[in-house]
Amino acid sequence: MLRTSTRRVTSSLSRTVVFARCLNTQSGAVPFPEKLAFAFDIDGVLKQGHHNVLPEAKRVLQLLSGGDGRLSKPIPFLLITNGGGVPDEERRAALSSELGVQLGPDQLVQSHTPLRDYVKPYREKPVLVIGGAGESCRRVAESYGLKHAYIPQDVIKWKPAIWDRTALTEEEEAFARPADFSQIPLSAVFVMHDTHDWGRDIALILDTLSAKDGILGTKREHKSDQGEVELVLSNADVEWRSDWPIPRLGQGAFRLSLEAVYKATTGLELPYKQFGKPFKATYDFSELSLRRYLSSVGRNPDIPLNVYMVGDNPASDIAGANAHGWSSILVRTGVFSDENGETPEHKPTVIMDDVEKGVEWAIRRETGRIL
Ligand SMILES: [Mg+2]
Repeated sequence: MLRTSTRRVTSSLSRTVVFARCLNTQSGAVPFPEKLAFAFDIDGVLKQGHHNVLPEAKRVLQLLSGGDGRLSKPIPFLLITNGGGVPDEERRAALSSELGVQLGPDQLVQSHTPLRDYVKPYREKPVLVIGGAGESCRRVAESYGLKHAYIPQDVIKWKPAIWDRTALTEEEEAFARPADFSQIPLSAVFVMHDTHDWGRDIALILDTLSAKDGILGTKREHKSDQGEVELVLSNADVEWRSDWPIPRLGQGAFRLSLEAVYKATTGLELPYKQFGKPFKATYDFSELSLRRYLSSVGRNPDIPLNVYMVGDNPASDIAGANAHGWSSILVRTGVFSDENGETPEHKPTVIMDDVEKGVEWAIRRETGRIL
């Protein structure tokens, strides 16, 4: 249930002004919370739907970034989303414009951003990259330094018989790159975003994982569930909220389907590495990003941090934060609702109406000041 009203927004604004003034160390009212940092989910916390930025989110980010001059220095924060399919620099520029704050390079973690470090051993090797519209995920892969990133359309262009249910469109014919996969040993498959053609992509992943030495059109003996070709997925969400009133199927649902087909055809468990919330790899990368940010603004990157994750999804945002030793703030502006007395499956540190109230609560908790 979405709960916004003009009256509430107005009262939130005045509250924020009051507590921000109290925090200005130049007034000497409250010591600056040196250890405090925030991690925000985007959908259902800062935004609702594709285009609707919540006004309280804009105010909070302005405050924390120090952009309005009310804080003596910024409080570190970053955004962690299970979304993706767009190169980080492009998404960062778009979000900076939408949210009204300039996000630095260490302040955005998309589902595939941790792959930037993870893919280093594959930079010179041929890999298959799956997900997103057109060749967007190839652009993501190339932005991470992968020099030989192929996409499903390249494979179909090589041998249309490998998936004859849907032909390439004119546009796909134009961007698909010519390649002879009988001579290209694929070494990994990276699923970086929701796939637009589940049947095609399940078939291609099965073929690649089952191939001998990564050569499409060959088949190796399945003697164990340790594949020769590594499979990496960036987002485990089974469902997600779009502008449609019923939750839509996400990359996690695709993986469940892939697992079932792999088991049915090989008798084995699907071997894969999972990134995205709530997985440890993503939280480790995010904490490292917060420390890089501290370093970039001239602060000690090694100080103990009290990180507060603000999210709307107990199963991803809250579960991941709790497991990582962060505090967690569950908000009511997204998928979670307790209107009928529901309790979240993963218990947060606190439940608040929205991101602004959550941030106020965390600052009060860290400074000991009742505002
Ligand atoms: Mg969310």
